[in-house]
Formats: sequence, C-alpha cells, structure tokens
Amino acid sequence: MDNKRGKGLSFAKRIYAPRVIGSGFGSIGLMAALYPLDRSIWVWPLLLLNAFVWPHLAYQLSSRATYPYRAERRNILIDSMCGGFWAAAIEFNPLPTVIIVSMMTMHNVAAGGPKLLVRGALAQLAGALVALLLFGFAFTPHTTSLQVYACVPVLILYPFAVGMVSYGLAITLAEHKRTLSTLSRTDSLTGLLNHGSWKDLLQLSFQQSLERNSPATLALIDIDHFKQINDTYGHIVGDSVLRQLSKELKDNLRTEDLAGRYGGDEFCVILPNRTLDQAREIMERLRHVIDNYQHADEPGLCVSLSIGLATCRPELLQASTWLNEADKALYIAKNTGRNKISVGAADTLAESQLSNDPV
Ligand code: GH3
Ligand code: MG
Repeated sequence: MDNKRGKGLSFAKRIYAPRVIGSGFGSIGLMAALYPLDRSIWVWPLLLLNAFVWPHLAYQLSSRATYPYRAERRNILIDSMCGGFWAAAIEFNPLPTVIIVSMMTMHNVAAGGPKLLVRGALAQLAGALVALLLFGFAFTPHTTSLQVYACVPVLILYPFAVGMVSYGLAITLAEHKRTLSTLSRTDSLTGLLNHGSWKDLLQLSFQQSLERNSPATLALIDIDHFKQINDTYGHIVGDSVLRQLSKELKDNLRTEDLAGRYGGDEFCVILPNRTLDQAREIMERLRHVIDNYQHADEPGLCVSLSIGLATCRPELLQASTWLNEADKALYIAKNTGRNKISVGAADTLAESQLSNDPV
C-alpha cells in the first residue's frame, strides 16, 4: 500500500509542472481568443481559476488522496474536460483549439498510454458539450495574428516541460537499471560477487591470463566446521561470520582481485597477476586474521579456514578445469587437518621441479 502510494505520489509530482505550465501559458491564448467573443463575465474568473488555481488544487488533491495514482488519473480527465470546454467556448478558433487537442493528447498518452488517450478524448467531448449547451454552437474560422502570438509561449514551453519530465524519467530508469544490474550480480548477505557473475569473470580471467601470458591464481576458501558454528551459536552468528570473512576479503585484496561467494560457506577469489607464492602469502594473511577473529558477543567462537590454490596454466584448457584444480586443493586441505592452505598436484610438481632446477 505504501509502495503504491509512493508510486502514485511521484506520478502526481511528475504531472504537476507540465500542468502548471500548460494551464498558465495556455490561458494567454485562450484569453486572446475569448476576448472578441463578448462572453458572459463569469467566464473570465472561471478561466483564471482553471489556469492558475486548478493545477495546485489538483496536486493537493492527489498528494493527499489515499490512492494518489487514481486521483491523478481523475485530475487528468478533468484537465481534458476543461480543454474541451474551452475549445467550444472560443468557438473552435483553429490555433488555440489545435493546441488544446495536441496538449491533451501529449499529456494523456504520456500519463496513461492509449487507454487514457481514449478516455481523455471522451472527457474533451463531454466538456465541449457542456460549453455548447451554455453558449450554443459557433465556429470562428480565423486565428488573428495577435491570437497566434498569444499562443507562442505555450507552444514553446509545454513541449519543453513534457520533454524535461520524460528526460528525468529516462535518467531515473537508467539509474534503476544500473542498480538492478548490480544487485543481480551481488550476493545479498556478503556484498561480494554472487556465484553466477563470479563464474563469468573466471572465464574472462582465464582467457586473459593465457592471452597475456601473465600469472593468475585461484583461491577457494571454505570455513571449517561451519555447520557446527551454526548449530552451536545460531544462524545469526553464522551470518556474521560470513560477513566478517567477506569484509576481511575486501580489506585484504586489491581492487583487481575478484572475490565472490561461491555458495554456503565457500568463497572464491581470482588473483590476477599473482604467482602461487604471492597468492599463498595473501591467503596466509587472511587465514591468520580469521584465526584471530573474536566475535563481540561470543568470545568462545573460533573460526578457521581451509584454502585451496591453483595457478592458471595453458594445459588446463578451460576455466572449469582451473576451478577443479583449486577444488581438489581445497579437498586436500580439508582432509589433511583443515585450517591450512593446500595446492593441487600439478602446482606441487611444478614447485618441486622449480626448487630442484640447478641455478
Ligand atoms: P567443513 O569443515 O567440511 O567445511 O564442514 P562444514 O560444516 O563447514 O561444511 P558443510 O558444507 O557441511 O556446512 C556448511 C553449512 O553452511 C551448512 C549450511 O547450513 C550453512 N550455510 C549455508 N549458507 C548459509 C548462510 O547463508 N548462513 C548461515 N548462517 N549458514 C549457512
Ligand atoms: Mg565448511
């Protein structure tokens, strides 16, 4: 209900300025067309009320209504009725009448599409009918040059107002689109990349590393006995541990490092331009920080990490094999005591060959 009200309010706000401009400046053309017709005196205050009081009254009515959107659509139909009334009251003087019809069309289509256009046209007819009943039918076929000049302000300013509103709306939509796109790539609990977007970046990083012949290391991080943490301290404490680990990842990594939540208590990091040794040093630091983590409300809570590392190598052929290598390394860490960093068989072999190589 609040959300609906909020949307209705912004709709009413959007329409306010074009209505003020359209009614105010439009009335100059109408006055010029009415003047030679010698209408009853009450027509003039009615025109002034419609031009200068109605736009503000309409906004007050819709912004205070329980359903502002509904109230604003009703206001739009009143606008159309008034437009039809004034078109007949000026004996369908060509230029002001065309301006009224085109302004109403623009207003109604912009606010409610074809449906409101049709309803608005019917409301214009109803308004015209009222004026015809009051004044009788007459047609003034010519617009004098004074009347043309009197119509110039609304001709310039009204499309400008509608254009500005559309532009503002387009900017807001673009911002919402950006926000939605970020949200769709982000894990809501930790603020890190989510599984899907991280995997897309893994593919990209794998290709870039091979193309540029630059090192890259993958780290898979899993919290040890996390289920037990949840079972002992509850899921809220469990969540705070996940958030803390994410925070440490953000604080300890460079901007080009890509950290994501792989799922559950498992996290993943791509470290471009980092050799195995450099990655091990960074992850060792992280492991140490988490090992020393003290929860504010649960002093007995101990958290440790198992981490698997794998470097990017051409023989892996695809990104998924690289990920598999890191997963195997993590499996080794889990099966050899946890709270440690392990590397895969191929990386271990490469390391030992390197250390055996004569200098
Ligand atoms: P291991 O040392 O082998 O990794 O053991 P583990 O208990 O950490 O592993 P397991 O995969 O069995 O447990 C992961 C747990 O993470 C199970 C699940 O309930 C919990 N979990 C997954 N997502 C969330 C979450 O968003 N919040 C919390 N609090 N717990 C979660
Ligand atoms: Mg775990």
